[in-house]
Amino acid sequence: RVITSQSVSSQEELLERALRPKTLDDYVGQHKAREQLHIFIQAAKLRGEALDHTLIFGPPGLGKTTLAHIIAKEMGVNLRQTSGPVLERAGDLAALLTNLEPHDVLFIDEIHRLSPIVEEILYPALEDYQLDIMIGEGPAARSVKIDLPPFTLIGATTRAGMLTNPLRDRFGIVARLEFYNTEDLTSIVSRSAQLLNLEILPDAAVEIAKRSRGTPRIANRLLRRVRDFADVKNSGQISLDIADSALRMLDVDHVGLDMLDRKLLEAIITKFAGGPVGLDNVAAAIGESTDTIEDVIEPYLIQQGFLQRTPRGRMITELTRLHFNLSV
Ligand code: ADP
Repeated sequence: RVITSQSVSSQEELLERALRPKTLDDYVGQHKAREQLHIFIQAAKLRGEALDHTLIFGPPGLGKTTLAHIIAKEMGVNLRQTSGPVLERAGDLAALLTNLEPHDVLFIDEIHRLSPIVEEILYPALEDYQLDIMIGEGPAARSVKIDLPPFTLIGATTRAGMLTNPLRDRFGIVARLEFYNTEDLTSIVSRSAQLLNLEILPDAAVEIAKRSRGTPRIANRLLRRVRDFADVKNSGQISLDIADSALRMLDVDHVGLDMLDRKLLEAIITKFAGGPVGLDNVAAAIGESTDTIEDVIEPYLIQQGFLQRTPRGRMITELTRLHFNLSV
């Protein structure tokens, strides 16, 4: 059973990787971030320099990793990938940094979860391309300085507010990713359908796009599930009807809220009289971590106007009352 679920998830990962756009031109939407990066990449290349350190932030699945790979590719350099929680010791980071070629990209996902010791090592590396590390212990300990090649750090984070100020200040470029609109998501769904050789009608692509929480990763995932449904029920063709039935079966409602979204909103309505209620209480009521709520669930609900964050806590809105047919 464990093996099955593992191989399924790595299959999905493979598919997801296959759907990743490879160039800035293929990267749909995010006009502001794309335009900025286009200029900064050209300028760095003209000067023959490494690209400035770049921070990318936005909720999960909006394309941070994809963008980091595209930047490396457009710069014509290698990308080494790691993540904040994985880098436990100073030596882990030192090993990565000393293996970089000039102008390479080091991509650190979840950079807000770096340990303070590792973060300390990172500062001089970012500023002066120098590594300052202690070797040995006790009286024999000494500090050594190692020169690094000029490189680009790309940090990704779901929450810019969790970064320490000194770290944030060291990024010359900040790209903020927004939720995608229906038009952009429709392009993504159509593009993915083409890559996967699926037959999909235009209104079905729009329907999937509308119900994807503004998130490409979700759009691609829903497309794959709708495809399963179409294969079994409609000899493969994805029509609006098929898409709608499949999405209902997946518990994605007509405005695109999923089960977790509704669980959270319903808990605030039924257990806390619509709020305001503190984050910890909501988390306990629905059995999810506060991180999941803040990173994954809330941003979209707030952006869509279903939830409000007030100084006294989370509150539902009139839109939510209407959605759940409650009297205002
Ligand atoms: P994040 O790192 O922000 O969690 P990813 O970069 O892993 O998100 O993106 C998730 C998936 O969504 C990718 O596999 C890619 O196929 C798709 N995707 C993300 N951004 C875009 C985009 N701008 N255009 C097309 N597809 C995208």
